[in-house]
Amino acid sequence: MKTMKSWLVLLIPRPVLQPHNHNKVHSSRKCHDLEQQEAEEAGNMKDVIISTQHLVKIYKMGDLEVHALRGIDMDIHKSDFVAIMGKSGSGKSTFMNIIGCLDVPTRGTYFLDGVDVGKLNRDQLAQLRNLKIGFVFQSFNLLSRTSALENVELPLMYNSKISSHTMREKAIKALESVGLADRSHHLPNQLSGGEQQRVAIARALVNDPVVILADEPTGNLDTRTSVEVMDIFQQLNKKGITVVIVTHEPDIAAYTNRNVSFRDGRILKDLQVEHPRKASDELLLIPAISEEETI
Ligand code: ADP
Ligand code: MG
Repeated sequence: MKTMKSWLVLLIPRPVLQPHNHNKVHSSRKCHDLEQQEAEEAGNMKDVIISTQHLVKIYKMGDLEVHALRGIDMDIHKSDFVAIMGKSGSGKSTFMNIIGCLDVPTRGTYFLDGVDVGKLNRDQLAQLRNLKIGFVFQSFNLLSRTSALENVELPLMYNSKISSHTMREKAIKALESVGLADRSHHLPNQLSGGEQQRVAIARALVNDPVVILADEPTGNLDTRTSVEVMDIFQQLNKKGITVVIVTHEPDIAAYTNRNVSFRDGRILKDLQVEHPRKASDELLLIPAISEEETI
């Protein structure tokens, strides 16, 4: 390269040389930019937790076909906290069920943490789901006659390698992380709605999942409790857990860092939230309902 340059300097008169040289600098910068871009893309790819290519879901009901998803291409990265939005019937829950390995697409591919989910049998799918995903539901779905602690232990029971001692330790740690260590022996009906949802989040966390999926997690909660739940999700996301929620409330989506809107089984918009609301700051401004008021 160097010899080539000296050759040019010798042979080409200056006015011609300058633009040529300029081009060269430009092209080497281009090359550098390209390399950087490729490196960034490779880095990004490494961080892709969820990747779907043209996901299609058609429900068949007798002669009727319902096209719930019409081709969803989406990459979700490790640092993402995503809100899936859209009207009722737009395909949000169908998408969550597929990325949660609870259902399979009619067509398209889905990679979860680098694993091609379509190539797995039912047992492998259940295993992957248990290992990688924590679920949170709108209606909490806690077992009613079972303490908070036992509810949180539940996902660990499928793992025969974990001793009951380790199980207890993990469940206590998960309850601590949602600020409910002192409620571990309460039954669900002895807890407020917000507390029940926090138990459900602890249950989702107990297996150290890479991603938490929550379908309308604040749908049954009042404003302050919703912000408390969003605060927990923001903290988990900061610790490196990918969080995907479904919500139809723009106020709730504003706590996430990416808003994806669905319409008729397609992605309508996919926007980064430049300045997400900070739940921990806002909680300081919303007065907590005192114990006396709740009795
Ligand atoms: P959303 O969660 O956005 O309200 P869904 O994913 O639940 O939307 O539903 C998308 C479409 O698929 C709707 O038209 C719904 O009626 C239909 N659908 C969802 N689940 C089923 C099912 N199990 N069988 C048949 N149709 C379904
Ligand atoms: Mg739904």
